[in-house]
Amino acid sequence: MTPVDLLDLDSLLDDEERQIRSVVRRLVDDRVRPHVADWYERGQVPARELAREFGRLGLLGMHLTGYGCAGSTAVAYGLACLELEAGDSGVRSLVSVQGSLAMYAIWRYGSEEQKQRWLPAMATGEAIGCFGLTEPDHGSDPASMATRARRDGDDWLLHGGKMWITNAPVADVAVIWARAEEGVSGFAVPLDTPGVSVREIRRKMSLRASLTGEIALDDVRLPADALLPGAAGLKAPLSCLTEARHGIVWGALGAARDCLETTLAYAGTRTQFGRPLAGFQLTQAKLADMAVEWQKGFLLALHLGRLADAGRLRPEQVSVGKLNNVREALAIARQCRTILGANGVSGEYPIMRHANNLESVLTYEGTSEIHQLVIGQRLTGLSAFA
Ligand SMILES: Cc1cc2nc3c(=O)[nH]c(=O)nc-3n(C[C@H](O)[C@H](O)[C@H](O)COP(=O)(O)OP(=O)(O)OC[C@H]3O[C@@H](n4cnc5c(N)ncnc54)[C@H](O)[C@@H]3O)c2cc1C
Repeated sequence: MTPVDLLDLDSLLDDEERQIRSVVRRLVDDRVRPHVADWYERGQVPARELAREFGRLGLLGMHLTGYGCAGSTAVAYGLACLELEAGDSGVRSLVSVQGSLAMYAIWRYGSEEQKQRWLPAMATGEAIGCFGLTEPDHGSDPASMATRARRDGDDWLLHGGKMWITNAPVADVAVIWARAEEGVSGFAVPLDTPGVSVREIRRKMSLRASLTGEIALDDVRLPADALLPGAAGLKAPLSCLTEARHGIVWGALGAARDCLETTLAYAGTRTQFGRPLAGFQLTQAKLADMAVEWQKGFLLALHLGRLADAGRLRPEQVSVGKLNNVREALAIARQCRTILGANGVSGEYPIMRHANNLESVLTYEGTSEIHQLVIGQRLTGLSAFA
């Protein structure tokens, strides 16, 4: 139990869930925490090495079954995301994109051959995947995507481009979404296919311990069996996003917890006006409000996780979690920053890194505004998207 767990929410978890959480926490303590400030500063991360280590622990495609995947519960997967993101949101993104986006798309919509070809290698981290939906001119509105797929004899030709694609610079395979005559379709595209080029996006001020790329597709010729046969229409990529957003609902709590724990320790020892910062009423009001929000966020994540495990989780419910938990995690990171004063902006402490990371988390997998619109549509029956 952490000091942030005022309500003993730990007691809502079973032994196996607590055990998985401890294993991931130890891995993050050993392999991420000592290095992540440096990765962040340099904008580099040993993604392949990490993927293999995460694969050895069964964290890749953890909630999927078969093909070398661990087949864990949604709650256990959520707890793993929380611990990973307590290390860094970029590191959690590596795992989320691999498992919830790329592997899930192939697992749910791929042919048996595609599953056999990619999933066991992706589960061990030998192969890395990415998920290309966003384009330079189409982000929140993927239905307008410009990337095209057309048949040429038995083959497919893909033309267009994808932007802001996590893992792309190190990936072996991309799940690419393109508009075909039949509607939006998904393709498993090996990134060494002629006509594919990947450029790393540099100068990010957020998620710097994560590799992000742009994928150009210049009349890329693919065999007929590159098509994901089960994916028909935009609801296929959207269902993958629902999976990944569930991990984010939990993950954001990890970044917030790390900020809170760092701040509690700091405020207990830093003295001004002859007493620790933690002894000032204004500081305690901030700490109390943040701890209350964190607990509410955890209850929300756990409820959504239990719904997912019961097979009853609906997309707009995930929107509630993503909207709330990322927004509150970012508010917590910013508030913690104030308590650390000047040290709050230093890379010697994790707060500013988490806050900067959460700016990306707020935007990707549906911006806060888009989740408000999803919830608004459910409440009113009216779509305000267009
Ligand atoms: C670090 C990082 C990693 C990413 N990884 C991936 C990835 O792996 N794969 C992938 O496909 N994408 C990825 N993305 C892209 C991400 O999903 C998009 O950035 C996101 O969907 C928003 O699209 P946009 O940036 O084009 O913003 P826009 O869609 O241009 O939106 C800009 C602003 O306008 C608001 N807005 C848009 N439409 C409306 C509306 N109807 N009503 C009200 N407000 C609206 C938005 O909420 C936002 O505030 C990543 C992004 C980042 C930053």
